[in-house]
Amino acid sequence: MRRTHMTKIVATLGPSSSSGDKIRTLFEAGVDVFRLNFSHGSHDDHRQSIAAIRSIEQAAKRPIAIMMDLQGPKLRVGDFAKGAALLEPGQSFRFDMDSAPGDADRVSLLHKEIFAALEPGSDLLVNDGKIRLKVTDCGKDFADAQVVIGGEISNHKGVNVPGVVLPLSSLTNKDRKDMQFGLDHGVDWVALSFIQRPEDLAEARRLIGGRAPILTKLEKPAAIDRLDEIIELSDAVMVARGDLGVEMPPEDVPVLQRRILRACRQTGKPVIVATQMLESMIQSPQPTRAEASDVATAVYDGADAVMLSAETAAGKYPVESVKMMNRIVERVERDSVWRSTMDANHPEPEATSADAISAAARQIAHTLSAAAIVTYTTSGSTTLRAARERPDVPIIGLTPNQGTARRLAIVWGVHSIYTSDANDFEDMTSKAGQHAYYDGIAHPGERIIITAGVPFGTPGATNLIRIARVDDWSQEAESRLL
Ligand code: PEP
Repeated sequence: MRRTHMTKIVATLGPSSSSGDKIRTLFEAGVDVFRLNFSHGSHDDHRQSIAAIRSIEQAAKRPIAIMMDLQGPKLRVGDFAKGAALLEPGQSFRFDMDSAPGDADRVSLLHKEIFAALEPGSDLLVNDGKIRLKVTDCGKDFADAQVVIGGEISNHKGVNVPGVVLPLSSLTNKDRKDMQFGLDHGVDWVALSFIQRPEDLAEARRLIGGRAPILTKLEKPAAIDRLDEIIELSDAVMVARGDLGVEMPPEDVPVLQRRILRACRQTGKPVIVATQMLESMIQSPQPTRAEASDVATAVYDGADAVMLSAETAAGKYPVESVKMMNRIVERVERDSVWRSTMDANHPEPEATSADAISAAARQIAHTLSAAAIVTYTTSGSTTLRAARERPDVPIIGLTPNQGTARRLAIVWGVHSIYTSDANDFEDMTSKAGQHAYYDGIAHPGERIIITAGVPFGTPGATNLIRIARVDDWSQEAESRLL
């Protein structure tokens, strides 16, 4: 089974997509990666989703990546005596550590870290930035603020402090428990919310202990200030435009999206563009043309993947949303301008054997109109370097590591296959040809470009490139590959 899109599709599971049948339909419609959002749902819900995905994977013989998305700290106000209060522009309002119910003059904010970080002049945002206040006075357990943009503030609304690094770990106790659960159930990516500084990643990496790669959600302005270091320490990145758009003005978000994509393209780290991509499809079977254009922009900019959130988790049209996203991606990828954009924004190879070989493989595949580049990989890193080249043919990633095969599902242009390593040169060539043939990527007589490392099976030793013709395997049993 092969996908015809190069840019991958991530879909978030939720009440609209929790049954095994629905998940299968989403997969058949084009989903490469399923996101489990640990801000919602119980461990039982997620356990059932994981089991359903793994059974679909087995039936389809196609590695599927499961991304667990940790909630991270949520800063929220407490309760109001009447459930809510109306804040008028210009009025004063106090946040404090007193757990008594709030009113139109004050409310509890039981996060001492916020008070420690505030100073007069700091901005405070409530309810996804809909209400804006400016701090006039503050101490270790209170902040007085003037309302700049008013509105209704109600129980448990979220609070953001833009432009301030809060002295908070990105992992709460709930996140730690969720992470343990996810790792025990074999998730392929751990997505981290609330990353503010490079140090936040060290703690998560220590806890994960190499059992899954880290996908950093870029959602805090402080993280953008240290973008290059954070990308360097991450295995992949998400442009989390929902939270990013709370603390940043809307006009900054597309500029940052492009900057993040460019930085990831340069380093070869996979990058996902997320949130509100087909937002109106939560309610409607058709997207707006502006939404179609938003998905297309991410594809033209070379994102590895585009993501659906509420559209598939809680919307009325989850399958239609995936089909629509797939149609937009495939339409853009048929455009010659897309191809020339990939070529024009092509990053220089670094001075390593893997990059030299990946760049050569791309060039040879183009010159010879080959059907595919086949990379033998253990950790997935050679395949990632091949994807960094954004070649004009699919990249087949052959790996003896099932986790690697699944993780690579997120990466641009990669068709990963879990298989045994090559024993020798002859085996390397025939195995590559058979897989390319059986998965419908190359026809007999077409050429494939193979990259591998000798001695075979040595991680990180890519040092070989071979041009081969695909034999006619149609008479052979597929079981030969196993
Ligand atoms: C986002 O903020 O865009 C995002 C993907 O994160 P969350 O899970 O908070 O929606």
